[in-house]
Amino acid sequence: MPSCLFCQIVAGDIDADVVRVGERTLAFRDIRPQAPVHVLIIPKEHLDSVADLTYDHADMLVEVAQMAKWLAVADGVADTGYRVVTNVGADGGQTVGHLHFHVLGGRQMTWPPG
Ligand code: 5GP
Ligand code: ZN
Repeated sequence: MPSCLFCQIVAGDIDADVVRVGERTLAFRDIRPQAPVHVLIIPKEHLDSVADLTYDHADMLVEVAQMAKWLAVADGVADTGYRVVTNVGADGGQTVGHLHFHVLGGRQMTWPPG
C-alpha cells in the first residue's frame, strides 16, 4: 500500500466521496469542508506540489481546470463563482504532500486568505 494518503485514495485503499474520475485526475469531497462546496482535484500521478510541475503535465493541468468548471456547474456555483487554490509547503498551509487543488464555492470568499 502506498504511504501517501491521496495515493491510497487513488488506489481505492481508502474511501473517499468521489465526484468524478478523469483520465489523469480524480475529484473527491474534502473531509473537512471549508465552504458549502469544497472538492479536491488531484492528479492520479503522485506529485508533491505545484513545485513539481513540468510542461509534461500540461494536459493534466487543463484537465484540472475543466474538472473544476464541471464540478462548479454540477454543484450549482458556476454562476455565483468559485475559487481554485493550491497550497505549497508549511507556510503555504499544505498538510497533505500530494498535489491537490481545492475548489471552493457557495459562499463569498475573502481576500487575502487567512
Ligand atoms: P491542504 O491543507 O494540504 O491544502 O489540504 C488538504 C486537505 O485534505 C484538507 O482540506 C483536509 O481537510 C483534506 N483531507 C485530509 N485528509 C483527508 C481524507 O482522508 N479524505 C478527504 N476527503 N480529505 C482529506
Ligand atoms: Zn500521493
